[in-house]
Amino acid sequence: MATLCLVVRTAAELVAEARAKFVQEFGEEPQLAACAPGRVNLIGEHTDYNEGYVLPMALPMLTVVVGKPNSGHDAHIITLNKDADKPWRVDLNLQTELVSGQPRWANYVKGVIHHYRASPVPGFNAVITSSVPLGGGLSSSASLEVAFYSFLQQIKPDDGVKVSKAVACQQAEHSHAGVPCGIMDQFVAVLGEKGHALLIDCRSLEAKPVPLLDKNLVILITNSNVKHSLTGSEYPTRRRQCEQAAAILGKNSLREATMKELEDAKGRLDEVAYKRAWHVIEEIQRTEQAAEALKRAEYKEVGKLMVESHNSLRDLYEVSCPELDELVSAALEVDGVFGMTLLQADAVDRTIRHIQEQYSGNATFYVTTPSEGARVLSL
Ligand code: ADP
Repeated sequence: MATLCLVVRTAAELVAEARAKFVQEFGEEPQLAACAPGRVNLIGEHTDYNEGYVLPMALPMLTVVVGKPNSGHDAHIITLNKDADKPWRVDLNLQTELVSGQPRWANYVKGVIHHYRASPVPGFNAVITSSVPLGGGLSSSASLEVAFYSFLQQIKPDDGVKVSKAVACQQAEHSHAGVPCGIMDQFVAVLGEKGHALLIDCRSLEAKPVPLLDKNLVILITNSNVKHSLTGSEYPTRRRQCEQAAAILGKNSLREATMKELEDAKGRLDEVAYKRAWHVIEEIQRTEQAAEALKRAEYKEVGKLMVESHNSLRDLYEVSCPELDELVSAALEVDGVFGMTLLQADAVDRTIRHIQEQYSGNATFYVTTPSEGARVLSL
């Protein structure tokens, strides 16, 4: 198994790497360090911005920020991630330079500083590093935002309210990265719990931990290595279509709508809006059902719901891609696979081998466990 899967670097390794760069660049030791995880969502796709349920878990992959306040008003920030766009160092005047621009990666950081809930922050130097693959669907961007927010909390503490922290990071993504995302990614990056998935109600912003540590079960993440980008027009378009469907149904959001109401309103909705709403309404139900099934360790049932979710994303929401469809079909051919990410522990090797044989691209794999949310690290 070890040879087939990628090994994730530990927090200590990431801190050591960032620390060495900090010393090299700024000529002194950093004083503070914080991190936040990437995430995988088991089920509940495109439901967060419709005020529905999602069921993600935090990953062992992390973004780490180390740094130290300086005596001025400027922030000097370096990313060690070579997949980010250049330049990898930015020098910001914190009073004037928080508008988005180039490089794009710095927009996430500027947004977080802008929306930080105990502004203004004094000048600081910082180095960022990460084991979350960028643009791989594991939410490296939310992980960066939340890690950076956690770092700022050490420089100048805010009130420590975790849900508000997630919302501030979501706002950063809206205003500075131009992505009108829901709350899921930032929420689980802040509030993720070791050994648990989180059933998040995106209307009330309440979260219930769902235990997910069974030695017979493995969570396998397969990266298709096909780049997708939320900043394309697809995401905002879907969001708008859902809002339109909700408005026609006379609801604040699709969370309030039932399939019966959707059927009754079919004549008043165009075909596309109808399909989008159909996905969302059923997906919200599936997510609640999956959380219940997970609590009862009924993994076949969870898997069945995950497969239905994928089919609905492909056919009704139309956000899948041929590579993902291929990966899901290949995984489901293997005995012991419940759903794309959920399998019997003894099925891991044969699943990876089978996917490698069947997949036309070059996939990478991680066997992973539900991990903690953002935290302070010692140096
Ligand atoms: P993802 O699913 O990984 O969040 P996005 O396309 O939404 O994909 O966000 C990825 C972007 O986030 C990167 O292109 C980069 O701009 C930024 N990013 C994430 N992590 C880092 C990092 N460690 N250093 C610099 N930029 C990062």
